[in-house]
Amino acid sequence: MSEKDFIVVGQGLAGSIVALTLEKYKKSFVVLDQPNEKSSSNIAAGILNPISFKRCIHSWKASVLNPYSLSFYKETNQKLNAQNFIPLDVIRIFSSYEEQNNWISKTSDSRFNLFLGDEQFNFTNKNLNLPYGYGNVKSCGRLAVKDFIKSCSKYMKAKGALVKSDTMVSAIPKIKGMYQLGGYKAKNIIYCEGLELKNNPLFNYLPIIPNKGELLKVNCNTLPQKLISKGIFILPEKNKNTFLIGSTYSHEDLTNLPTKVAKEDLLSKFNAIGDFNHEILNQVVGFRPTTKDRRPMIGEHPILKKSYVLNGLGSKGVMTAPWLANNLIRHILFKEPIDKEADVVRHEKMIKQENLDFASFLCNS
Ligand SMILES: Cc1cc2nc3c(=O)[nH]c(=O)nc-3n(C[C@H](O)[C@H](O)[C@H](O)COP(=O)(O)OP(=O)(O)OC[C@H]3O[C@@H](n4cnc5c(N)ncnc54)[C@H](O)[C@@H]3O)c2cc1C
Repeated sequence: MSEKDFIVVGQGLAGSIVALTLEKYKKSFVVLDQPNEKSSSNIAAGILNPISFKRCIHSWKASVLNPYSLSFYKETNQKLNAQNFIPLDVIRIFSSYEEQNNWISKTSDSRFNLFLGDEQFNFTNKNLNLPYGYGNVKSCGRLAVKDFIKSCSKYMKAKGALVKSDTMVSAIPKIKGMYQLGGYKAKNIIYCEGLELKNNPLFNYLPIIPNKGELLKVNCNTLPQKLISKGIFILPEKNKNTFLIGSTYSHEDLTNLPTKVAKEDLLSKFNAIGDFNHEILNQVVGFRPTTKDRRPMIGEHPILKKSYVLNGLGSKGVMTAPWLANNLIRHILFKEPIDKEADVVRHEKMIKQENLDFASFLCNS
């Protein structure tokens, strides 16, 4: 039996980043994953944007998470010898004079102007509607999440640190202080399961809520090669004339089929941005692992010690995951505190008897 410091369950965005972070701390690990073409990570647009446009404010902990994630992806591009992350500005097209005024006042306010660009730049395109002008958000970027996961798979496989399987791993029993499964044993286990967490009897008390998102891929040769936001985003893909348009949000519709409503919603917002001849190539659907309080979840199981979780990345996983993985791993290795807002202890009251029984069963099996 091969002994590692950590077993990581799941190799989406979360599991990949946890594994790379463990490697940074020179810890040995194996990642166990059942690949899923439709996982949130494989569908995600991958935009890293520190601004919440609704109120034109920093999103959660953006002043800390943003620089951390930018340097993480820069290093990771080098390590994986790939260009999965590309820095980009977001061009925000204003919807009203109110939004324009709000933006201008915030660019001169030190509490908000970390990311809001105040420089005048020339952004004209004869097909765009810009009645109220535009601004730029600095320090953004795009992670091609599917490619990133593929690069990580290749990298970990070469090190013998990845096992892909046709079935989901079930919660792993602890025998003589070690989690043991299929030829591996480790003192620590980190579950990075995304929405599959609902099938994990250890952690399924955690309130992870699926949020459906739909995206259109279009072909267009008149759109500028810029990441544009106005109600939706328009994101240039590697292939010069293809763009992603997204995304929708729905907690109600849990069917995994593309809908006409989402397509019409995206197209009406797209058409309001400008007049661009385009051809729709496809429409894709995915589900974000979100939380009610809009905060991610990291931490240890209340009963089964050294069993950890990283989940609830919601719609900002690209920016939040590197810092969260680092926070969790430093907590495990050096007993540093977990960020209070992200700590799973806030949901301890939701734990059910069956979760406690299952944890005791795993401890004693
Ligand atoms: C339409 C859409 C657009 C999005 N756009 C963005 C965006 O622009 N920017 C952004 O930051 N985020 C975006 N997101 C959100 C982002 O995709 C998620 O926050 C993130 O990818 C979640 O990653 P995860 O690793 O937690 O989960 P997942 O992606 O679900 O990965 C979990 C992996 O673990 C495997 N797994 C789970 N349980 C087990 C088990 N027991 N045994 C074996 N394998 C297991 C799964 O098969 C999967 O491979 C978007 C999401 C959607 C749906």
